[in-house]
Amino acid sequence: MAQTNGLFIAGEWQDGAAVIENRNPSDLSDIIGEYAQADSSQLDAALAAARKAQPVWWAAGVQKRHDVLMAIGTELMARAEEIGRLLSREEGKPLAEGKGEVYRAGQFFTYFAAEALRLHGDLAESVRPGIEIDVRREPVGVVAIVSPWNFPVATPAWKIAPALAFGNALVWKPANLTPASAVALTEVIARQDIPAGLFNLVTGPGRAVGQRLVESREIDAISFTGSVSVGRGIAASAVANMTKVQMEMGSKNPMLIMDDADLDLAVAHAANAAFGGTGQKCTAASRLIVHEAVHDAFVEKLVAAAQALKVGHALEAGTQIGPAVSGEQLAQNLDYVAIGKSEGAELLCGGDRLERPTEGYYMAPAVFAGTRNDMRINREEMFAPITCVIKAGSYDEALGIANDSEFGLTAGIMTRSLARASHFRAHMRAGCVMVNLPTAGTDYHVPFGGRGASSFGPREQGRYAAEFYTTVKTAYVSAGLPE
Ligand code: NDP
Repeated sequence: MAQTNGLFIAGEWQDGAAVIENRNPSDLSDIIGEYAQADSSQLDAALAAARKAQPVWWAAGVQKRHDVLMAIGTELMARAEEIGRLLSREEGKPLAEGKGEVYRAGQFFTYFAAEALRLHGDLAESVRPGIEIDVRREPVGVVAIVSPWNFPVATPAWKIAPALAFGNALVWKPANLTPASAVALTEVIARQDIPAGLFNLVTGPGRAVGQRLVESREIDAISFTGSVSVGRGIAASAVANMTKVQMEMGSKNPMLIMDDADLDLAVAHAANAAFGGTGQKCTAASRLIVHEAVHDAFVEKLVAAAQALKVGHALEAGTQIGPAVSGEQLAQNLDYVAIGKSEGAELLCGGDRLERPTEGYYMAPAVFAGTRNDMRINREEMFAPITCVIKAGSYDEALGIANDSEFGLTAGIMTRSLARASHFRAHMRAGCVMVNLPTAGTDYHVPFGGRGASSFGPREQGRYAAEFYTTVKTAYVSAGLPE
């Protein structure tokens, strides 16, 4: 096994107890490599190394942390094309998206490099004369990071960068479907002058390595992105151990298309948000709630837009939609198409598996119309290039449908009315609301997260990230002079 496909523990690359094969979902004959799987003793070694390294890193000070993060970010941005190609090859998103994701990951590091310098505290007057009070932020300690495959470089970056910026050590368990991206990011971090054990990559199956990691009493905090079912299990173990936890999970993001919307813009944004990344985004627009006055015209244009999208090999020029990430994901997608039909929804286009010159997990983007909000296709996160149109008679009805979900990550409205846009912004129960924009696509310097079953715990990203990656200490200081 090539050394670079190993685990990174206590500052050393090492072989795993087993290996898995990583195949390109655009071309199943293309084997990207073999990747190490950790066993429990390797995970324990990573946790012990992190514990030892953390105080050394904190003591190194803000300039050092700034410089290391800046170097990581700068290298990621400079190598966005090369690492993005590897990302697209193993995950299946078109090359432009893979490249953009790696560049964005670099921006998370340079942003948090600067945040490392802004770890400000507070001063307070004591109610008791002669006593000074200060409130400081300190690192939370050793952080467990468990990340998914759909943004295999950006999601870990927005967790790793603040963890390091604020003086923590970490153990990272990436998704087993995208180990090459994890190794590439680790190589960039490992090249820095950092304490051995500060940053550990421990690849392996979620149900074994991931579960042991999040249940460990050797960690102080868990940052997780993934499915709701795994998230529920993590929350339970975090509570049992009193471990700080932050989770970002699924959603069923609504997009309202009002009767006064620019229809062409609405179609472009809906298609982008529904089908970009093969629909494998927690921010995907999966419920399009359309005013009856423009319903038929919107649906006709949306179907034309979906049919015009070029589905193909992620690395081929002109590809707009890549394959599903895995055979299991494709099978789940096709199951949801069957479920939608059996629930009485009308499949207007797509939903079938596609043949391409290379064997891969290709599927035609699907549009369902005539759907009701109580159908499974409108309640469960599908993570597929499938979107569902729901007809509404008024703005109030559309808003009620949008809010009728256990999730609340992003939500959008297409309208020319300032009054409706303002009302939506105030009354939509979601972590991010978008006006005349797609539901997917966020900035890197402001908070990201949702409500309900979509998120749990403090927000990620922007300066709000400090809430999770630090703990606050209040100091009372007296000069100790006699009264
Ligand atoms: P999972 O929640 O299973 O995976 C996310 C991460 O958690 C992976 O690193 C996984 O490891 C790990 N993991 C799995 N089981 C455990 C466990 N018991 N304890 C600790 N960690 C664990 O999601 P999937 O990747 O399987 O995707 C399934 C569905 O989840 C998707 O179809 C989609 O609906 C949703 N999802 C949502 C995401 C979002 O951003 N909202 C992101 C990804 C998925 P490993 O992969 O190695 O098993």
